[in-house]
Amino acid sequence: MEAKTVDAANLYRLPWTMPDNGITWLEPTAHCNLNCYGCYRKNIKNSNKPLEDVKHELDFFQSMRKTDCISIAGGEPLLYPNIVELVADIKSRGLKPIINSNGIALTKELLHELKKVGIFGFTFHIDSKQGRGRGPEWEGKNELELNELRLHYAEMLAAEGGIACSFNSTVYEDTLHYVPDLVEWAQKHIDIVHTMVFILFRYITPDTPYDFYAGSQKITWNDIHYHSEKEEKTDTMAPDVVAEIRKRYPEFSPAAYLNGTHAPDRFKWLLTERIGNKKKIFGYAGSKFIELVMTLYHYKKDRYLSYATPKTLSLGRTTLFNTWMVDKGIRNAFKKYLGYLAANPFRIFTKVNMQSIMIIQPVDLMPNGDQSMCDGCPDITYWKDKDGKEQLVWSCRLEEPMQYGDFLRMIPRNEKTAVTEN
Ligand code: SF4
Repeated sequence: MEAKTVDAANLYRLPWTMPDNGITWLEPTAHCNLNCYGCYRKNIKNSNKPLEDVKHELDFFQSMRKTDCISIAGGEPLLYPNIVELVADIKSRGLKPIINSNGIALTKELLHELKKVGIFGFTFHIDSKQGRGRGPEWEGKNELELNELRLHYAEMLAAEGGIACSFNSTVYEDTLHYVPDLVEWAQKHIDIVHTMVFILFRYITPDTPYDFYAGSQKITWNDIHYHSEKEEKTDTMAPDVVAEIRKRYPEFSPAAYLNGTHAPDRFKWLLTERIGNKKKIFGYAGSKFIELVMTLYHYKKDRYLSYATPKTLSLGRTTLFNTWMVDKGIRNAFKKYLGYLAANPFRIFTKVNMQSIMIIQPVDLMPNGDQSMCDGCPDITYWKDKDGKEQLVWSCRLEEPMQYGDFLRMIPRNEKTAVTEN
């Protein structure tokens, strides 16, 4: 039997669920200063929510769900006029505020303000299909050329100190081949770049074999916000990205995952933890390491870990020495590290870091019209329906209830589609 690129048998299924999760998603505004191709949200001017309403959403989250961090997204959260007060409020609730930003509005002064009130981390979304015309120097740049911009933000955070630094990129068919370059770039900056996230592009395209319904109302496919007028690949899978990364890093090994709600054999959030320095990756944590971390953290804090502090991630050497006996992946990395030290004992003075690489595979459209979401969705957010009922919903599909009052159902257009397994 052919070996699978990624085999669930070797992975830890992250323990995140609807009521107990690492992350929860908050949108204080739908206004953005970019119009990225591939964005799941409409850019709406004058859409800032009153701070009291946003605090109410946080109250609702806390009544429904244990969470470790709040991802403040949007829209562009740095355009939200009360962003500093909001970060302070999240921090005062004992949660980790993380800002998901394109970075454009981030100044040193604002960063300093945010640090003072307790910002835990930033996730910068930077990729080549964002139309970054505002910074003329970034217009038309490819993923590799954008590394200079990524480095600018990573260094800005490092200069302020103690703030977790992550980068998101949407991955399209024609940018998939850049992923190994980004993974290599992240290694060169492993001391200040803590997480790389690759999100696979998903849109409705003209060749869709489905009809769409909101209740009994039929919806035209190109009225749905996330649609493309051209035919393009929208079903790249997480193992395809792993295979691409292995062309550069043959030993690249994911350790944990979330499965799909309708496809338990698919990898929706696929987490890899690597350990190394700027010159050498010693290895990859295995499933037992992640299980241990999640379990201990939950035991101590009564919630599951989302982001670790930069300080914790800089303790790679301590991690190797202390956990090699519980995890095969760490054990292999430790052996390589000892060999590295044996060749030159002065290398003991070189820091060893940990770095996360997450691959996110959003909604998968199943042959029978089911939509397979991330089981234990971390990016769940708030929605109040027309009857005033408050709910937790998938942030990646928020436009559907906003536009049509409900999530859309999909019906295969013909029998053949309904029975064809993909
Ligand atoms: S279901 Fe959608 S919102 Fe939830 S984690 Fe997956 S992609 Fe994100």
